[in-house]
Amino acid sequence: MELLYGSTRGGETGVTASQAVLKGLANDGGLYVPERIPTLDVTMDELAGMTYQETAYAVMKQFLTDYTEEELKYCISHAYDEKFDTEEIAPLAKADGMYFLELFHGKTIAFKDMALSILPYLMTTAAKKNHAKNEIVILTATSGDTGKAAMAGFADVPGTRIIVFYPKNGVSRVQELQMLTQKGANTSVVGIEGNFDDAQTGVKKIFGDKEFAKELDAMGFQLSSANSINIGRLVPQVVYYVYAYAKLLANGEIEKDEKVNVVVPTGNFGNILAAYFAKQMGVPFGKLICASNDNKVLYDFFRTGTYDKNREFILTTSPSMDILVSSNLERLLYLSCGRDAAKTKAMMEQLSTNGKYEITADMKEFMKDFCAGYADMEENAKEIRKVFDDTGYLIDTHTGVAAAVYEQYKAKTGDTTKTVIASTASPYKFSRSVMEAVLGKKEDADEFALIDEMERISGVKIPQAIEEIRDAKILHNRQCKPEEMEETVKQTFSK
Ligand SMILES: *Cc1c(COP(=O)(O)O)cnc(C)c1O
Repeated sequence: MELLYGSTRGGETGVTASQAVLKGLANDGGLYVPERIPTLDVTMDELAGMTYQETAYAVMKQFLTDYTEEELKYCISHAYDEKFDTEEIAPLAKADGMYFLELFHGKTIAFKDMALSILPYLMTTAAKKNHAKNEIVILTATSGDTGKAAMAGFADVPGTRIIVFYPKNGVSRVQELQMLTQKGANTSVVGIEGNFDDAQTGVKKIFGDKEFAKELDAMGFQLSSANSINIGRLVPQVVYYVYAYAKLLANGEIEKDEKVNVVVPTGNFGNILAAYFAKQMGVPFGKLICASNDNKVLYDFFRTGTYDKNREFILTTSPSMDILVSSNLERLLYLSCGRDAAKTKAMMEQLSTNGKYEITADMKEFMKDFCAGYADMEENAKEIRKVFDDTGYLIDTHTGVAAAVYEQYKAKTGDTTKTVIASTASPYKFSRSVMEAVLGKKEDADEFALIDEMERISGVKIPQAIEEIRDAKILHNRQCKPEEMEETVKQTFSK
């Protein structure tokens, strides 16, 4: 059955999956949402016997109905191959009473690889299907991980170019080096003098500028997005939640139909929304626990029903979650008010003018599968150290937030349901903060000395992604102010 997409703000309906992937963001500034959330048409027993690639096909074909079987299988087999350092693609590790779903075995050692290794294939296939005449310019804001993963995916892909904006002082050293050493003639990286919200707001503004779109069109370009506002990011993220549950069943860790809770370290609300979609598809998940760092706007939202971004932006040790405007929440809002686009649009307008909005009691009730917690930097460090001391298993600072929130949740509710923690990055990507957490003190040593020390204490081999940046040449050095982003894009593509 064909599944079509519409904008959360009502301006577009009847959009095919491939058109939605190609455009990224709807013309009215809204996000594409499928007209219904499809259910799985295979049983959990069947899924239990499937590889990651087979699971990906079973899930994605339900959402991307205008891609042919051949097209989808081509995209999947080229994305989930030896770029990943394990055949399982997303293995589960059991430690300290939790199941860590390791989403960092791709090229850039963060969970963004799970979707961004397939997005370029989905997008170039979509461009062909829709006879796009222009070259596609991927315009991306990053809190540190999306930028590198998107560039790694799109580097030297014919018919595409990519430009990434990141907060100059808001990423880890490894994240920055990974981006600044990116090869590929079609890649550009620009540091902005601002935070992630400035970068994301700037990108959305450029998407909304019709005049600019015309200018680009005249130069032979059209914009698209690699951020989780693109449905082509969200759909591949649903896969690993289905896969994780099926593997727990296959490994005899759970009984058939047993409920499993999920904890997701959250920033832009894309990863946890994928878990929600998996649940709607029929996976027996219980609570979806949204874990925030010191920027706890989502924790406050789920507690009070008011979203209020008017607060200090805090730079933390989990920089990929340093976000005050969570874009994907718009999709949940839309679903929670009975797909009322006018209402969703009004809330988004309030957010942009007053920096806040409130939801109704009915909407809050609709969101009862979700609960939320937060862990500050100290609690996060303590949890990383505790898991390491107890088990020798080393987690990164984002996963640390999730694990700490899970411990709080367990203590508060007494809920003993088995729980999957979305483990979103390799500890090597945040080596300084992780080593400081484990050692319990500030570290002055050089980044790579800390990385070598991490290998010694954890026994986990230094990933290829880290070896690559050790001696790599810096290839990008551009910076701009948030208000200069549009001009910067223009300069990049007018040459
Ligand atoms: C992007 C990211 C997150 C946040 O994911 P969202 O989908 O934005 O909520 C968490 N951890 C890491 C390591 C990330 O890169």
